[in-house]
Amino acid sequence: MKVHEYQAKELLKSAGVAVPEGIVITRAEEAAKAFDALGGGLIVIKAQVHAGGRGKGVAIGPDDDHEQALKIASGQAPRPASMAKGVQLVRTAQEAQLAAESLLGKTLVTYQTGAQGQLIAKVLVTVGHDIARELYLGMAVDRALKCPVLMASTEGGVEIETVAATHPEKIHREPIDVGLGLADFQARNVCKALGLTGESAKKGVTFLKNFVKLFIEKDASLAEINPLIVTAEGDVLALDCKLNFDDNASFRHPEVVAMLDEAEEDPAELRATRIGLSYVSLDGDIACLVNGAGLAMSTMDLIKYHGGEPANFLDVGGGANKDQVLEGFRILLSSPKVKAVLVNIFGGIMKCDTIATALLAAYDEIDFRVPLVVRLEGTNVEKGKSLLKESGRPIITADGLTDAAQKVVAAARGAA
Ligand code: GDP
Ligand code: MG
Repeated sequence: MKVHEYQAKELLKSAGVAVPEGIVITRAEEAAKAFDALGGGLIVIKAQVHAGGRGKGVAIGPDDDHEQALKIASGQAPRPASMAKGVQLVRTAQEAQLAAESLLGKTLVTYQTGAQGQLIAKVLVTVGHDIARELYLGMAVDRALKCPVLMASTEGGVEIETVAATHPEKIHREPIDVGLGLADFQARNVCKALGLTGESAKKGVTFLKNFVKLFIEKDASLAEINPLIVTAEGDVLALDCKLNFDDNASFRHPEVVAMLDEAEEDPAELRATRIGLSYVSLDGDIACLVNGAGLAMSTMDLIKYHGGEPANFLDVGGGANKDQVLEGFRILLSSPKVKAVLVNIFGGIMKCDTIATALLAAYDEIDFRVPLVVRLEGTNVEKGKSLLKESGRPIITADGLTDAAQKVVAAARGAA
């Protein structure tokens, strides 16, 4: 799960990590008041969407060209002066209002959102700071090391992906023991790598230890502070922050779940989450209903191997009862790009004839507008297959994975 920058900063602040003061607004008329409430001076107006690259992004209206906007946001086309950036520095209340107007209700296109962009419903009005140094701080779970790793670099502000690809040595890494948090010596190592000295280093140690503590306590899966800044006065602040959380731990963190912004989520994924199924939206035209994550991966591999592209996959987990299959089909078919559906289910404890009965019941309740290919394997497979064959419904049955993949790719091509 992702949260907005302003929400991430609320969490940082309550964990004792230094962030600039800010006020979230949803109407441009609130900008001048927020400007004054923050004491005026240098103020930053920031679009709140679940994507980075906002500083280089462009806010566009309904009549603007999305593809062109993406080119501008990716630095492949010159930026017309009239196009608003997703992050704007202002110095008067009137400028604050104009900046908020240029963002709220518009669509922000950044190199991370893709051409469709994301609607800006909220804007963060925040105290601006004079930046002496722009640094980078990140934290992610390292699967090879089996622990979170704190990453720090002096190359802040720029796209860290580029630094990682061209100058990996410029990223300092500290593996974290989740039981102990960031040890003092590690905090000092990171400060040294970041070139923090004197008072800034002291502030840096507190910042880093609290940041790591927050990551562990909230079961975050990814955190990024880019830029982490040092001000002219030597203060260390998080100017930007992205936080992702591990959904498997969400039951422990109602305060984080409360931050979910449904407008930012894929509607089909949201619907699946509500009934406890995992759904992932992809770019192709073949929908997949499977039981088990491993089967989902192999199903998609086979579809691709036989020249097709998965549109999504829905994992109904260990079971496959009628209600799950029914809602699963509805979710899969809600995407207009779907040209065929492949059901690939392994009957273990759940018998294949039970699954076939559930499939048929669900099939009859739904207006199935595309071909359906079903591959069943496991307990009572013959019984299951004959139920499907004898049903008289135009369901294509398959023997084995290869046959299933070939049939569904052909069906999608036929429908397309
Ligand atoms: P992102 O582009 O989505 O990562 O958004 P950021 O929050 O990182 O802002 C983009 C850029 O705006 C930063 O890299 C800074 O260069 C600039 N910026 C943001 N806040 C301030 C500020 O308080 N002072 C100054 N001088 N620049 C800022
Ligand atoms: Mg940033």
